[in-house]
Amino acid sequence: MKKGLEIRLYPSKEQRVLIDKTLGCSRFVYNHVLALKKELWEDYKLNFNPNLKSFKEEWPFLTKVPSQALANSYMDCMTAYNNFFNSLKGKSRQQAKFPKFHKKGHKDSFRIAATKTSKGYDIRIEDYEHIKVPKLGLIKFRNYHNMDWSKVHIYNITIKKTPTNKYFASLCCELPEKEYIEPKYESCGFDLGLKDFCIFDSGEVIKNPKYYRKTVYRIKKTQRQLSKCKKFSKNYKKVQLKLAKLHENIKNQRKDFQHKWSHRIVNENQVIVSEDLNVKGMLKNHKLAKSVADASFSTFCNMIAYKANEQHRQYVKIGTFYPSSKLCHCCGFKHKGLKLEERFWTCPECGTYLDRDENAAINILNEGLRILSGNTVGSTGNDKSLKPVDTGLVTNLVQEPVITSSQTACHAGKSPTEDG
Ligand SMILES: [Zn+2]
Repeated sequence: MKKGLEIRLYPSKEQRVLIDKTLGCSRFVYNHVLALKKELWEDYKLNFNPNLKSFKEEWPFLTKVPSQALANSYMDCMTAYNNFFNSLKGKSRQQAKFPKFHKKGHKDSFRIAATKTSKGYDIRIEDYEHIKVPKLGLIKFRNYHNMDWSKVHIYNITIKKTPTNKYFASLCCELPEKEYIEPKYESCGFDLGLKDFCIFDSGEVIKNPKYYRKTVYRIKKTQRQLSKCKKFSKNYKKVQLKLAKLHENIKNQRKDFQHKWSHRIVNENQVIVSEDLNVKGMLKNHKLAKSVADASFSTFCNMIAYKANEQHRQYVKIGTFYPSSKLCHCCGFKHKGLKLEERFWTCPECGTYLDRDENAAINILNEGLRILSGNTVGSTGNDKSLKPVDTGLVTNLVQEPVITSSQTACHAGKSPTEDG
């Protein structure tokens, strides 16, 4: 199984210098290739591929860093450039933007691929504490993953530096298959929201931790401080670092929260159903934008998708236009005039008192189970936008779609953590 793993690196002083140099040279190569190509295209409509060798002759300092990093940087620029032109010609489905110049301190990284030598691959974990990287030697790292590194084959390594001056490496590697864990429950459906982050069909709720909202005061204060400093002065850099740390902190808290919950949902359920949210559309609404961005639903759904894939679970996404909150889960009545403020409503057909979010979660689950069972009769959603995620293992569903909320077969967690 091919997977990306992130580890924190603790390079020595000399290694730090070399890493910083390589980051700088990679950026230099990328920006120069881009500038050359851009100029020649704009002035002469020439599609010219510069030679990396000539770069090294012109700027000898480029020979002092791992050449593979530069070659990859060169290739990345070419790919970005070609993607843009292919998308103009309509060759690729996605609309690519014209590649941007790389800025110092913004997503700084370089990549080295492993090559086979007489002593095995040149990128390898040496003794559970050190990773061997060509030209850089043994770099100390922290082993959070607690795994048997001897079975891990590394394809390539991407070394990056954060704005807070920390070093990380992403390893693209081949991992042994994970052990299959029996799920506790057959299925679970959930609705994502802003007040409560996640509402399950069982009525259980994960509160939205709103990390950004909690730190926004300190961020704004630091931003004001930064605007008063003289640009690029010593003090400016100090305040800049402080601001970067605040942002990093929020990012880490959010990541941790999402990993914990997605892990739990995937581990406990065989079938997971959620709604495919129109996040881009929601971000356009200025009142909601910050909260939506703070909750970062799409990252959460992506985490569930890849974890489900690893654990052989089934993850189904319901189309954006499925009216999950407007349908009564008991009789299927559609309440067309339901407003966003109405948290509770009574179904005029069968008289059930409904909690808006819980009702939506049950509808989402039922719709997902219906899709999985292959039944398309009585569909109320937009079938074209359905995206069942292939998780490898197909299980036969024995369970009928859930009707009542009190007897649902699913609980995503017993005690929702409310710490922030
Ligand atoms: Zn009803």
